[in-house]
Amino acid sequence: MTALREAGLRPMQARDAVKVWMQAYHQDGLDGQAALSRVPPVQALRLAPLLLDDTTLVAVEEVVAEDHTRRLLWQTADKLVIESVVIPADNGQRVTLCVSSQVGCGRRCAFCETGRLGLVRNLGVDEIVAQFRQANALWSRVRGSMPAISNVVFMGMGEPMDNLDNVVDAIAVLTHDWTYGLSARKISVSTVGVAQKFAEFFARCPANLALSLNAPDDARRSQLMPVNQRVPIADLKAALLAHLPRGRSVLVEYVLFAGLNDAPADADLLRAWLEGLPARLNLIPANPGPDPLLRSPSSEVVWTFQKRLLDAGVRVMVRYPHGRDVGGACGQLAGAHRQKRGHVEEAHV
Ligand code: SF4
Repeated sequence: MTALREAGLRPMQARDAVKVWMQAYHQDGLDGQAALSRVPPVQALRLAPLLLDDTTLVAVEEVVAEDHTRRLLWQTADKLVIESVVIPADNGQRVTLCVSSQVGCGRRCAFCETGRLGLVRNLGVDEIVAQFRQANALWSRVRGSMPAISNVVFMGMGEPMDNLDNVVDAIAVLTHDWTYGLSARKISVSTVGVAQKFAEFFARCPANLALSLNAPDDARRSQLMPVNQRVPIADLKAALLAHLPRGRSVLVEYVLFAGLNDAPADADLLRAWLEGLPARLNLIPANPGPDPLLRSPSSEVVWTFQKRLLDAGVRVMVRYPHGRDVGGACGQLAGAHRQKRGHVEEAHV
C-alpha cells in the first residue's frame, strides 16, 4: 500500500484497491490479471506493476498415497524444486498443509534428505504463500466430503528460523482477513532449536513453535543434529523457559530410532528434560531416510516408550508419519524427482 500511495493514490483508495485484489486473488482463486479487473481502472493501473506473479510456482508432480496424503512438487521461477504435502488427518476431519521455507537446508540433520543438499536459498514470502494458494486450489477440486485446509506446518524443506523474516511475513498474509483468514493457533513452525531466534519469533509471530528434539542427551543429539554442538539441550530448555510467552506451550517432537533413542532409560531422561516446561510431546516412529541405520522401532517398543512417559504424567501422543507409501518424509519426493533428472539435490523430514 505504501507503493500505491507513493504512486499517487489516497490512503483509502490504496487500501480498497489492495483489499479487492487480494480477496479476488486469494479467496476467489482468480489469476492476477483477472483479479485486477475487479479493481477500479485508476487504481488498477497503479496496482498492476506490483502484482504477485502467477508463475511463482509451477506444479511439476503430484503423488497420492493410500491414506490420501498428497505430495506436491513445485518448480520455482529459477528452476529449483520444492515440496509441499497435503495431509488429511483424524480420519479426514482435519487437513494440514506442510510447506517448505527454503530450497535445501544448511542444518544437515543426519536423518534428513534435505540436509544432504545444503542450503540453496531462502524462499520468498510469495513462494511460501503460493504453496498454500495452489495447494488450496488443488485440494478444493479433489477433496470431496473432506474439509478445506485449515492447518499449516512449516516442516517441509528448510529451517524456518533461518528465513524468519519471510516466514513471519508469509504467516501474516495467510492469517489476514483479506486472504485465507487462517487461525495463527493452527499454524506451527518447526525448528531444530535455533535458540537465539526464539525471542524474536515469539515477539513477532503468534503461531505455535514446535521443537524437533529427537534425543534425550547431548551426545546423541549432536550425532543426529549438528545444531546441538552450539546449543546443548540444557541451553535449549533455558531459552524456551526464558522466551515462551505466558500461557503458551511448545510442541516437542521426538523421532524414535530403533536402538538409538528408544530405551526405557531414554524415556526417563526425556521426562526429566521436559520437567517444568509447558510442553506437549509427540513421538514419531522414524521414516526411512538417507542413513540406513536410522530405522523405526517396533510398535511394541513405541508403545512401551509412550506408556512409561504417560505413567510419569507427560502429555504424549504417538504420531505416525502420513504418506509412507509415497516417501513419508517431507522432501523425499523432491529428492527423487531431482535424481530422475540427474540433479544432485536431495530434500526434510
Ligand atoms: S530436519 Fe529440517 S533443519 Fe534438519 S536438515 Fe532437514 S530440513 Fe534442515
